[in-house]
Amino acid sequence: VLTTTEFDTIAAISTPPGEGGISIIRISGEEALDVAKKLYRGKDLDKVASNTINYGHIIDPDTNEEVDEVMLSVMRAPHTYTEEDIVEINCHGGIVATNRILQLALSHGARMAEPGEFTKRAFLNGRIDLSQSEAVMDLIEAKTDRSMKAAINQLDGNLSHLIKHLRQDILDVLAQVEVNIDYPEYDDVETMTSKLLREKATDVHARIVQLLKTAKQGKILREGLATSIIGRPNVGKSSLLNNLLHEDKAIVTDVPGTTRDVLEEYVNVRGVPLKLVDTAGIRDTTDKVEKIGVDRSRKAINSADLVLLVLNASEPLTDEDKKLLSATQDKQRIIILNKTDLPTKIDQDQIKSLADGQNVISTSAIKADGLTQLEELIAKMFFDEGIESSQNDIMVTNARHIGLLNQAKQALEDVVKGLDDGMPVDLVQIDMTRCWDFLGEITGDSYQDELIDQLFSQFCLGK
Ligand code: GDP
Ligand code: ZN
Repeated sequence: VLTTTEFDTIAAISTPPGEGGISIIRISGEEALDVAKKLYRGKDLDKVASNTINYGHIIDPDTNEEVDEVMLSVMRAPHTYTEEDIVEINCHGGIVATNRILQLALSHGARMAEPGEFTKRAFLNGRIDLSQSEAVMDLIEAKTDRSMKAAINQLDGNLSHLIKHLRQDILDVLAQVEVNIDYPEYDDVETMTSKLLREKATDVHARIVQLLKTAKQGKILREGLATSIIGRPNVGKSSLLNNLLHEDKAIVTDVPGTTRDVLEEYVNVRGVPLKLVDTAGIRDTTDKVEKIGVDRSRKAINSADLVLLVLNASEPLTDEDKKLLSATQDKQRIIILNKTDLPTKIDQDQIKSLADGQNVISTSAIKADGLTQLEELIAKMFFDEGIESSQNDIMVTNARHIGLLNQAKQALEDVVKGLDDGMPVDLVQIDMTRCWDFLGEITGDSYQDELIDQLFSQFCLGK
């Protein structure tokens, strides 16, 4: 049930905090134009066309004091981001003016927007569904061009479209089953109906399995591939890391909702976002940090999807190297033989046998040798047909969606099992309906308010 306060007029600063060239204050809702008219001196906002930007000034209506010179956009419902009237005030990007304008909007009829509330309205007003709303956030947070493409694909509604098809098919068969039960045309209604249910369950199951095949790569594109660089002190971890982070490829972000000193570092490797785990210990070369190395390695190994184990090729293999080799043997890993510019002392055959001949790369961090091969190998390990081949496919990238698809798949397996066990059709129907519900949670056709609140609260303010 939607209360009226859910659709009152909201306002927020939509540009990032701090000083900049311009800042944007966004206002959405039935009274957006009324609020703007109180603060704006320039054109007659009742007469300007939709989707126009208008020069003028913001004044404090109580004192007539001029606050800033602005460009003000008017976008009239329903063809707007929220499907409501929207006014966006572009002002000079100072902190004081931006906050003053927001405060004026708040004291003249608007309420402070919650994080993600503009997008939440686009969802509640039916412009986009839930998976598309989630794609908005993915788009903002995308770490590589390939991640961005997956998000745009989802924002365009391709996943939604597929899910809606599956749900419609389920609904059709459920309706058919009802008709069969109420108006039996055939002598053996039960057999006919079971056959229908089984066929549809098998068909939808196969399509869900197909979709879930994209989940592993999709999740990497959305969340990043958790990667740890481990190895003894002085083997060249920091140097290799710096090589990987070379120039503009490093993407460092604050983790939203946590203290500011928690940073996530990503590096773009051929479109694969590597999320670097625990680089603090690698970056900080003081003795203290290096000494807690072994414990730290175990933690780093456990939390990684990919381990880069660095060995010094100019020294014989040590016991510690062997320990790290065995600690990582069940992991997706690449063994990096570094310092190959120096005379080789490591026993390469021994390494190859320890590694089953797999994923061993020679590098020289100092000469930046072998990095291309390393990057190619990483991309190939996780996107075996090349990252570009997945370009136009519908991918499932979001852990929430993956979970629901697995539940939907399980419900369909329950349908088939129920039929095998000779369960009455009305009981089997329940599992079919459960499947329909799970799929509906992906698009938000069936949802709970808490879920919606929780999802949108992760958005940035002003989006
Ligand atoms: P970490 O302790 O594993 O992080 O190792 P560092 O990256 O701090 O490197 C330790 C030392 O090895 C530094 O003096 C580096 O300059 C040197 N080093 C790193 N990689 C190479 C390499 O490929 N060849 C040579 N000759 N020296 C390297
Ligand atoms: Zn180091």
